[in-house]
Amino acid sequence: MQVFYATQFVLPLPAGHRFPMAKYQLLRDRLADELPAVQLRQALPATDGELALAHSPEYIQAISDGTVDPVILREIGFPWSPAMAERARRSVGATIAACRAAFNEGVAGNIAGGTHHASADRGGGFCVFNDAAVASRLMQAEQLRRGRRLRVAVIDLDVHQGNGTARIFRGDDSVFTLSLHGQKNFPFRKEASDLDVDLPDGCGDDEYLHALEGALGELERRFDPGLVIYLAGADPHEGDRLGRLKLTWDGLEARDRRVFEWAWERGLPLAFAMAGGYGKRMEDTVQAQVNTFGVAAQYWQRWQNRRR
Ligand SMILES: [Zn+2]
Repeated sequence: MQVFYATQFVLPLPAGHRFPMAKYQLLRDRLADELPAVQLRQALPATDGELALAHSPEYIQAISDGTVDPVILREIGFPWSPAMAERARRSVGATIAACRAAFNEGVAGNIAGGTHHASADRGGGFCVFNDAAVASRLMQAEQLRRGRRLRVAVIDLDVHQGNGTARIFRGDDSVFTLSLHGQKNFPFRKEASDLDVDLPDGCGDDEYLHALEGALGELERRFDPGLVIYLAGADPHEGDRLGRLKLTWDGLEARDRRVFEWAWERGLPLAFAMAGGYGKRMEDTVQAQVNTFGVAAQYWQRWQNRRR
């Protein structure tokens, strides 16, 4: 299973910054040690032209040359540096590469990405560019070259609403945005996705899985995708500092399995990205993500078995 990374570009963050940047390298190390099916591949940076499929040229330029509005930079929550701009491009590149690999092999992943708070002309909430949005539009363009109209379902199970993705695809009926999120969590002003499911504080496994089942059913009634991009946020876990939900390890894994199973049953290629995870213990976030890759590898293996 091909997994794309940009972990060599570490954002220089001030001491005590609350973003757990080290989790990406930890995850990469654990995947290399524990999951032999995973082939780690370095991501290429997304180009200006690719980014412009979902972002304004002015915003892309401002991020590239460090002239981004200080208000927007504060909302992103990272100081600007050349490494910050490069890493943001590579993270989008990793989701693009994962989507292409998913068309060939059924399932592929990005060790980072899932930066769903970024909209066309501004970032926010640790998100600079919106990888799922850029990759959706690029895959549509690439498939159109082959005479196929591609419809993409973005299944966003990060605990925070995918407000940037919702904004970008508002009025675009070729991409279905589904977001299951904590009702009282950031962002406090929600955007309208194609399907939003608000969950109460303290929501546990059963309630969550029931809500997911209903959402997948509604997605299926309303939309017929040819590709799934799955944002497998680790932050619904009960050990998360920011999540406010109470999913156990088993609940999170059942969530992942349900999404992979749903795509598999329908023969849909699936690319996944990590999105958020702010465990009180960073190892817990990494464990949740390793678990996601473990489930993903099982479904990747099914695709390979079916082709033989
Ligand atoms: Zn999140």
